Amino acid sequence: MNALAATNRNFKLAARLLGLDSKLEKSLLIPFREIKVECTIPKDDGTLASFVGFRVQHDNARGPMKGGIRYHPEVDPDEVNALAQLMTWKTAVANIPYGGAKGGIGCDPGELSISELERLTRVFTQKIHDLIGIHIDVPAPDMGTNPQTMAWILDEYSKFHGHSPAVVTGKPIDLGGSLGRDAATGRGVLFTTEALLNEYGKSISGQRFVIQGFGNVGSWAAQLISEKGGKIVAVSDITGAIKNSKGIDIPSLLKHSKENRGIKGFNGGDPFDPQSILVEDCDVLIPAALGGVINRENANEIKAKFIIEAANHPTDPEADEILSKKGVVILPDIFANSGGVTVSYFEWVQNIQGFMWDEEKVNSELKTYMTKGFKDVKEMCKTHNCDLRMGAFTLGVNRVARATVLRGWEA
Ligand code: GLU
Repeated sequence: MNALAATNRNFKLAARLLGLDSKLEKSLLIPFREIKVECTIPKDDGTLASFVGFRVQHDNARGPMKGGIRYHPEVDPDEVNALAQLMTWKTAVANIPYGGAKGGIGCDPGELSISELERLTRVFTQKIHDLIGIHIDVPAPDMGTNPQTMAWILDEYSKFHGHSPAVVTGKPIDLGGSLGRDAATGRGVLFTTEALLNEYGKSISGQRFVIQGFGNVGSWAAQLISEKGGKIVAVSDITGAIKNSKGIDIPSLLKHSKENRGIKGFNGGDPFDPQSILVEDCDVLIPAALGGVINRENANEIKAKFIIEAANHPTDPEADEILSKKGVVILPDIFANSGGVTVSYFEWVQNIQGFMWDEEKVNSELKTYMTKGFKDVKEMCKTHNCDLRMGAFTLGVNRVARATVLRGWEA
């Protein structure tokens, strides 16, 4: 099942649990606006290269649309659509005053030089600058993009609209970025994992973790979990995978990964086939890379008792069913990884206020939001007698539905 079919399926299940009117259901499903643009740039060698850029703005009933921009070869319209819709439910679950959007360019950022990436980002911004804005749609980093990408978008956007730091979040600190934003998704994963384990009378320390992906989210989650005494027994990234049943020394792995652009060659563990990372023996599995990785091919082999979805849409609905029968507890993406967009909201608030918070305030506000989010999700699970995924979906969909009805449709 592709990402869009899977996301629509979860939405429809939630709509049914909530007893939503079918017309309202249809209006929530159709994206507000889908943008597709051609981005042609001169490469460093003087030849031309053309790419397709997307921005899907899914819903704005609760506030400006919000979501990352992804640079990845597999970016396609259906995936961007699914991820935009997931942002709508995610911002509603987090209870921050935003809707949902997502963007992407089908490209391999590893194959482009820094100046080519800058030209591509600027051309994309030129094509969409009239359709984004502080109170319209606020992009942020996602897979393959980073604070530098946001700085280029901010600069290009500001040429048309005047200096507007709040038009993007996840910026470098020097341009109005928030302290704590870089670590925020990983820190949110830590808070939500703690909350879930507590429910089962467990704590981070003493649990064995496997983390798939060692980019921004996976590496921060690994760092923060190991600081709390969690034992990280296996990690993978696109360059390889390593395992160590005694626990991997995460600070050393981080250093190695920064110096070598990947974890391959790290000598603090045994290398193994990254394809089998998800079925490694552990207590808690954290997928923190691409979508759709947990599916009917591998769900039966998964050994973890808990899955924390740090990635967006890592679990296919067929795998959801298999895992639920096995008694595996899944903390869904739209809650588990909402720490990133929550601190994006804090960044936007700081930009609008023109006042910078210290990191302690950012982290403690984040904890407050994530703790409240967990309580709200659990409450919905009780009300609708459902699992955590449906608890989060019904929470998000219900908040957006209420806002939509209150605003009305009068033309
Ligand atoms: N790309 C991140 C996500 O998927 C962050 C989005 C944002 O900060 O707007 O949640």
